[in-house]
Amino acid sequence: MKTIEDFNFEDKKALIRVDFNVPLDGEFNVTDTSRIEAATPTILKVLEDGGSAILMSHLGRPKGQVNKDMSLSHICEKVSEIVGVQVKFVNDCVGAEVTKAVTELQNGEVLLLENLRFHAEEEKGDEAFAEALSKNGDIYVNDAFGTAHRAHASTTIVANYFAENRCFGYLLAKEIKAIEKVMQTGEKPVTAILGGAKVSSKITIIENILDKVDNLIIGGGMTYTFVKAKGGKVGDSICEDDKMELALNILKQAEAKGVKIHLPVDVLAADAFDNNANTQFLDVNEIPDGWQGLDAGPQSLEIFKKVILESKTILWNGPVGVFEMENFANGTISIGNFIDEATQRGAFSLVGGGDSVAAVKQFGFEDKVSYVSTGGGAMLESLEGRTLPGIAAILG
Ligand code: AMP
Repeated sequence: MKTIEDFNFEDKKALIRVDFNVPLDGEFNVTDTSRIEAATPTILKVLEDGGSAILMSHLGRPKGQVNKDMSLSHICEKVSEIVGVQVKFVNDCVGAEVTKAVTELQNGEVLLLENLRFHAEEEKGDEAFAEALSKNGDIYVNDAFGTAHRAHASTTIVANYFAENRCFGYLLAKEIKAIEKVMQTGEKPVTAILGGAKVSSKITIIENILDKVDNLIIGGGMTYTFVKAKGGKVGDSICEDDKMELALNILKQAEAKGVKIHLPVDVLAADAFDNNANTQFLDVNEIPDGWQGLDAGPQSLEIFKKVILESKTILWNGPVGVFEMENFANGTISIGNFIDEATQRGAFSLVGGGDSVAAVKQFGFEDKVSYVSTGGGAMLESLEGRTLPGIAAILG
């Protein structure tokens, strides 16, 4: 696996695919700079070697049309501030003006190209567009994990034009190693905690990780499809009746593979999907009509705690309750605390994919787990066992 560490960028122009798809407020201020910060070590390595950096990214969904609201010019000052160098900007990502700006770029300088997705060819993975992009640098560096699951021109196809001179940036390399640690090389026991709303959106992940984990904790809305399939009463809880057979099949597969499945035994149930609803703790198998399970109960959390504290490798994807509502956030916060404790005792913990990252940030667990993945969809596809096109393109 070639990373940025394998290259010396002296007198070289690094064409870096970053993920600067950052949130902007009504006045075009960047409201969350974490993606810019995440790409900074890669940019600095190029500059410190004595090279220059050409940054390319998408922002929003302009659908192939120029849309000034989604111009990367809005974030140029913020990038300059974080990287510590006055970043230059050019109005397009291919064409004569870009070629001129790239040619004039000096060692130690940074150039930000305009939004790639102003060209419909980007998302189509167009060869000619990718070739035009490739003219903007000597070495291609992919540091955008968030788009590594897309076979777009700048994330995948462009790599073909840099046969030897292509590599992963620090961020992407870290993501790949973290996933490997959980899925292949993790110290046992390995435990996955899967929550979230629906079985249907997690089924491929569950099937893939059954070969890799010793324990699987299932929480959140997914719980009730399993419980009902096993003959329990779930009341008005979220439940996918058409997935019950699948749920039973998963339990059977797990048993055959020696994977222990831990489902909640009790839940905090509410009489409405509302933070201020009436609540009571109930046996997970005995939820009456008019009530729905919205968080894990105390006995369940005790069981989960024991499993998590005994684990050496932990993967967490998906909240175990409706954490957006304060009164149903306790289960998810508790899971975060258990993982924090296990991590302090030497376990490797990875949080990634969808809402679990939002939960981790909201409750301040970001610095307490070993690694928080930056790519929602890309992480989910990795956990499903797919080779991401952006990663495959570098590996060749
Ligand atoms: P996902 O994006 O699949 O990880 O799903 C996350 C969503 O699942 C969050 O918005 C949670 O509020 C929701 N969720 C978790 N537990 C439950 C539950 N018991 N009932 C309904 N929704 C839930």
